[in-house]
Amino acid sequence: MATINDNYLKLPGSYLFAEIARRVAAFKEANPEADIIRLGIGDVTQPLPPACIEAMHKAVDELANADTFRGYGPEQGYSFLTDAIIEHNYKARGIEIASDEIFISDGSKSDCGNIQEIFGTDNHVAITDPVYPVYLDTNVMAGRTGTLQEDGHFEGVTYLPCDASNDFAPALPKERVDMIYLCCPNNPTGTTLSRAELKKWVDYARENESVILFDAAYAAYITEDDVPRSIYEIEGAKDVAIEFRSFSKTAGFTGTRCGYTIIPKTVKGHAADGTLVEFNKLWNRRHTTKFNGTAYIVQRGAAAIYTEEGQKQVKETIAYYMENARIIREGLQAAGIKAYGGVNAPYIWLKTPENMPSWDFFDKLLTEVHIVGTPGAGFGPCGEGYFRLTAFGNRENTVRAVERIKKQLHI
Ligand code: PLP
Repeated sequence: MATINDNYLKLPGSYLFAEIARRVAAFKEANPEADIIRLGIGDVTQPLPPACIEAMHKAVDELANADTFRGYGPEQGYSFLTDAIIEHNYKARGIEIASDEIFISDGSKSDCGNIQEIFGTDNHVAITDPVYPVYLDTNVMAGRTGTLQEDGHFEGVTYLPCDASNDFAPALPKERVDMIYLCCPNNPTGTTLSRAELKKWVDYARENESVILFDAAYAAYITEDDVPRSIYEIEGAKDVAIEFRSFSKTAGFTGTRCGYTIIPKTVKGHAADGTLVEFNKLWNRRHTTKFNGTAYIVQRGAAAIYTEEGQKQVKETIAYYMENARIIREGLQAAGIKAYGGVNAPYIWLKTPENMPSWDFFDKLLTEVHIVGTPGAGFGPCGEGYFRLTAFGNRENTVRAVERIKKQLHI
């Protein structure tokens, strides 16, 4: 009989959002009249920018004509998109990225999940806690961890706790680690690392020959000058960092699907025989073997965000969400709840009153004020005692939710 990958059995059964859906469905069945406001799942609600829609319509028409039809494109992405990304997101900030150092994909989840395949299974992984669960789960699947312990930690992984006590800036690990996942701005905490904090990590990686896997899916939400938009703004990062970016939250592509990964050719690892190998080469091999390119229509849509109108439209939508973030953050503070994030990211991370367990706070918020959020414990052991609200709702619901919390929540 065929055997299975036993590592999958190490993963806990119930997925965070499935459990949330289950509790909300049970509440709704018992309270059919309840007007539930969802500030839970991190999906956007505003439509794609008109510039993207127009570009995608045009691309569809091109596919209708044999002279302009496109079949398989370059697996790494069309140059009309890669050139625009390099120009606007890197060159404009003084960063040189070559056209063969960028890989267009169907989104960042695939990239941050798949990247570990080009690393040896004996690498030691460090992950900030709490964080987007994909980094940990994919390393569990690959066998780079032991089993899940009773305290919620996987054996063999270095967790880097981030909470209010360290201002959500993780301390450097005491032991040597090979792969370091940093999510900046962070999902779920909505906090970021300053230039000085990020430099510590780049210096650590250079000294220890580690690689930083830098997820900047929310870079477009950064408002403060001291927060780098790209890790390559830090001197020396091009030797030690791989960066992931996404059009999902930048321009509403969560359903349309487009993202990209930057792997400078200077980022290298040791082969078993000791020779130095470029990760770029390995990822190119993987990408061209397992992926056949992001749809032409989607890439045309993504490229349109770099036009003058596209830039304006994207900024307007981000400003809309960030105003929601301000309303939530200030509303929570007015209600006497400690809230973090929401300045450089569309997430607000609140401290549960009196250290209430985060699932208890989930139930309290749902039953008392009919609002759905996300329990912090779902993002790692250090998320316990915290709770995530997102700014991706529409304005009306965001305002109504905050009013309910201020007036009706018993804390
Ligand atoms: N990285 C982070 C930190 C995220 O929060 C998300 C989505 O929520 C992703 C990556 C995935 O983005 P994409 O839609 O590009 O797959």
